[in-house]
Amino acid sequence: MIPKIVTFMLTYKCNIACDHCSVCSGPWRQETLHEDVICRIIDDIYDIASIEVCVFTGGEPTLYADTLKRALSYAYYNGFITRVVTNAWWAKNYNKSLKFLDDLRSADLKELNISYDDFHAKYISINNVINAIKAALDLNLRIVIGIIRSRSSKINAQYLMKIFRDEGIDCSKIMFEEDYVQPVGRAVYTLPEEEYVERKDVLNSGCVDILRVITVHPDGRITACCGHTTANPYVKELVIGYINSGSIKELIKRAQKCLLYWLIFAKGSMKIMREILNVTPSEKIFHSCQACYVLFTKYRLHLYKVLTEKRHKILEMLLM
Ligand code: SF4
Ligand code: SF4
Repeated sequence: MIPKIVTFMLTYKCNIACDHCSVCSGPWRQETLHEDVICRIIDDIYDIASIEVCVFTGGEPTLYADTLKRALSYAYYNGFITRVVTNAWWAKNYNKSLKFLDDLRSADLKELNISYDDFHAKYISINNVINAIKAALDLNLRIVIGIIRSRSSKINAQYLMKIFRDEGIDCSKIMFEEDYVQPVGRAVYTLPEEEYVERKDVLNSGCVDILRVITVHPDGRITACCGHTTANPYVKELVIGYINSGSIKELIKRAQKCLLYWLIFAKGSMKIMREILNVTPSEKIFHSCQACYVLFTKYRLHLYKVLTEKRHKILEMLLM
């Protein structure tokens, strides 16, 4: 549980409202991080040697371009690699994309992470993604395309690669990351159960992201991961503190001693339910962050009882 990345959710506001959004972002959301808070946290993490990357995401962080640029420069000036996650709404043509990204690059952006899939395609044209990629390549930015799939979705990495190659884009310079949608956030209300795919691989293993990715939310919470349940204000167990509750370094140190986090790291929430609480959820669990949601809501009291009563046994099991 070594922190490597600090993710700033610059805002919950987004210009669009995707059906699968785990943050429940949309144009009506107003919560936004102030740049003074971002700079204070960057000052605080400066001497945590393991932290290498500052990510700026949301919502859509580019809606607050001035704050974003100042935050990027401050993070880079303090020695962090900088990444922006965006839906590329701004890339209406190549020239606009070049100008927009050149501004961000001048503010020390190093990696552009574009989210695109069937959900985003309802709102954003593939041409925006093509324009953004061409401009980013011309500016020597590192590019990642993040794709969230469902059972019936047509857009995946191969589908996009074909389109990009037809446009003369060298796909060897792009990294593609795929994952499957989970029934958390807005997806709970918008997607039927048959659209989810069970990720047995992640369900049966520990979570490598816990305390590796510390996330600062625009509502003031600081969470132990950037998982898909952390934007839900009812999930308290992943909150390690608040932006005004003192040094983030101290919050991380305290969190690193948390038995529950070690359990999630070693086993994952699905196994905690099955093997430690001895319960089988009646609902179908498809993904690891959904398992955390179920554990921290439906089984919250049971979890605390078992953690208190079997603390020594659990510690022994973790040390074996
Ligand atoms: S998934 Fe991304 S682009 Fe879509 S509504 Fe959420 S924050 Fe906005
Ligand atoms: S599985 Fe749980 S701890 Fe891991 S990233 Fe998802 S919500 Fe966070």
